[in-house]
Amino acid sequence: MMLTDLTIAEARDGLRAKRFSAVDLTMAHLHAIEQLNPRLNAYLTVSHSQALAQAQAADAALAAGEARALTGIPLAIKDLFCTQGIRTTAGSRILEPFVPPYESTVTANLKRDGAIFLGKANLDEFAMGSSNMTSAFGPVENPWKRRQDANAVLVPGGSSGGSAAAVAARLAMGATGTDTGGSIRQPASFCGLVGVKPTYGRCSRWGVVAFASSLDHPGPFARTVRDSAILLGSMSGHDPKDSTSANVPVPDFEAACARGVKGLRIGVPKEYRSDGMAAEIEALWQQGLGWLRDAGAEIVDVSLPHTKYGLATYYIIAPAEASSNLARYDGVRFGMRREGQDLRDLYERTRAEGFGAEVRRRVLIGTYVLSAGYYDAYYLRAQKVRALILRDFTDVFTQVDALLTPTAPSAAFGQGEKMDDPITMYLNDVFTVPSNLAGVPAASVPAGLDTNGLPLGLQVIGRPFDEATVLAVSSVIEQAAGFDALPAIRAGA
Ligand code: GLN
Repeated sequence: MMLTDLTIAEARDGLRAKRFSAVDLTMAHLHAIEQLNPRLNAYLTVSHSQALAQAQAADAALAAGEARALTGIPLAIKDLFCTQGIRTTAGSRILEPFVPPYESTVTANLKRDGAIFLGKANLDEFAMGSSNMTSAFGPVENPWKRRQDANAVLVPGGSSGGSAAAVAARLAMGATGTDTGGSIRQPASFCGLVGVKPTYGRCSRWGVVAFASSLDHPGPFARTVRDSAILLGSMSGHDPKDSTSANVPVPDFEAACARGVKGLRIGVPKEYRSDGMAAEIEALWQQGLGWLRDAGAEIVDVSLPHTKYGLATYYIIAPAEASSNLARYDGVRFGMRREGQDLRDLYERTRAEGFGAEVRRRVLIGTYVLSAGYYDAYYLRAQKVRALILRDFTDVFTQVDALLTPTAPSAAFGQGEKMDDPITMYLNDVFTVPSNLAGVPAASVPAGLDTNGLPLGLQVIGRPFDEATVLAVSSVIEQAAGFDALPAIRAGA
């Protein structure tokens, strides 16, 4: 077995038993990146020398018996997390030259626990997208291939597409992502990975380039539920620098994976059963419910009546917050600048050249829904519907312990597909946005393959701050599914 094929849990044991060193493990990944990244474009920046320095420090800690939860584990970091001294682009021209003088809290937590950062992962520009096609630095190729059509280049999903492709192709053992409307769970589903969007407030947003502040959730990607639990444990925790960070204890997420589902009540929300749902996704969902029933859970039909307003609500609130957050990129304080005849001209040139089409579309929509005369009709109305969506979840969680749904309405699609019409692209997130609006935790776990041999994920949604149950349910699905298919493009293949 190659070092790059190990899970985080296996690598942790191997490092402690001195079967290999953190430098060996890091070199193996850097080598794989050298081979495959020119094709996949999963990393925008490879931090070769920093990674090796971190690996040497990890080996010293291991030798001294001072290993922590992630000592020596090589990760990819979504290029939305500010990393001190390492360029952070948010996938945008406007931040192309930006080298943060500070470290995000989540990445600082991972460093504290000994993780090694291989580099910064590609993403949709400012995390706006579902395909990684809006990155200013080019698309990412999904390492999975359709069985009959190995030439088609598929998207890894988005916006955390680089993170997902890197972990799937064995160019990292795990990765950070952010999920504002599905950007961890949908790429996890498209790339055959586990992705966890924790409860709002569980992982600090400090130092994460803001998209829509009330919806942005940092979280992990990994190849197993247990590995994602290990990462989540390190990423979580109260942060006084983020006013929305929750001051609640962080449980032992890894231990929670083994709890099982005996006696749990699992809800099936009828509104997620859309008419146009692909038969194989419906079948996989039923299969997942069967697995949970066999493991001792009780399956209960439930209703989340305001689900149908989720996307419309999201596409008012997210652009509104984005238009406000992105006002800071004016060519004066951060990143790129285009000189102009006067200050106004400088702003206009910088923003016109710095932002891509999708970002401009969001800023325009957001500015519109916040403008005098439309604020009440759109933004305020959306906030009220958001409260109803949250109430749906609060009500349903008095009856059940978790919900099971599909993660996405399709498997990975081709680069260039769904590009003509923004609305078609927005439909990717129909199953994922409600839990962002409500702030409840949700995970995607690989559960099977479609007829083309592409991965499909199931989504587990839980009560606020009950990631432990989400992980326990996900683990049962993972075991029952026995998902062991591999992407065509991967280190050593
Ligand atoms: N696809 C959604 C959007 O474009 C969600 C993106 C995300 O979660 N960052 O806004």
